Amino acid sequence: MAGWTYSKGLHDLGNGCFAYLQPDGSWGWSNAGLISDSGQTLLVDTLYDLKLTRAMLDTMRASVPAAATIGTLVNTHSNADHTFGNQLVAGAQIIASQKCYDEMKDIDVEARRQELKNWQALGDAGLFQHENLAGNFDFEGIVLTMPTQTFERELDLKVGDKALKLVEVGPAHTRGDILVHVPQDKTVFTGDIVFSNGHPPAWAGPISNWIKACDLIMSWDVETIVPGHGPIVQKSALRDFKAYFEYLTREARKRYDAGLSVSDAAYDIDLSPFDGWLDPERIIVNVNTLYKDFGATSGLSPVELRGWMGRYRRERREQAHPHAGHDHDHS
Ligand SMILES: [Zn+2]
Repeated sequence: MAGWTYSKGLHDLGNGCFAYLQPDGSWGWSNAGLISDSGQTLLVDTLYDLKLTRAMLDTMRASVPAAATIGTLVNTHSNADHTFGNQLVAGAQIIASQKCYDEMKDIDVEARRQELKNWQALGDAGLFQHENLAGNFDFEGIVLTMPTQTFERELDLKVGDKALKLVEVGPAHTRGDILVHVPQDKTVFTGDIVFSNGHPPAWAGPISNWIKACDLIMSWDVETIVPGHGPIVQKSALRDFKAYFEYLTREARKRYDAGLSVSDAAYDIDLSPFDGWLDPERIIVNVNTLYKDFGATSGLSPVELRGWMGRYRRERREQAHPHAGHDHDHS
């Protein structure tokens, strides 16, 4: 099967399954999905803001008339880049895992808006968020719109005559990650359980759950994997993705046993096997999570994680382009 093009917009996967992709897949640029059968529709995730979600829904409706009414929305997890557009399909039944619900209800939209406005007062963490989000996403008008139905472990659903299965595999990326599996179409919408061409941030862990989730997908008869971020892939990419977690687990363990701090360990780990993957600064989050998995009782706070990620990214850019920093200093 030929590779899928990675371009912005709706991609027809055949059989009434569609992926909506947002290159380049870095911070906030998430993918979504649409499943349609016999006049019924199910949307997999919304986007980071109302403008983006509205544009996505317009595009879907232009290609799939039944999408004029979205009957069911599934949120694969709680992160805002998959849920902040929920209010635009407010008439739909919204399904998520119970743990996703629990995590989502603590999201303070107003605080997110203020953080983005007042970034200059928030040090390295504020700068990091500003660099990732400002100008790309607009949180004005967002009203947190919660799932209306939750489940644990598994849920069987039908869209028209098409059977699909929601399978809980978290905690891993977040506390309540689920997969949307369409067995008859050999297709899975993974949410952020798969990142392609990008480093995944393991906010929750344990990483061992994430490795198990990769094994589970690989045990299925699937040909099309729609990740939460990045290009559509097949199982071969998932093998590399799983190898990333195995590599990181081994490398972090050595440094944990040697008594290195999270940040020292993260800086020390060689990421050249994953050259070309976006957002290498997420190594900071992942080592922090692995240290917790290993039994560390203290770790970096969310603010500290962002601060370290910002510094890590800046330093790597300066290493790659050593003169860029100097130009700035003398201007
Ligand atoms: Zn995401």
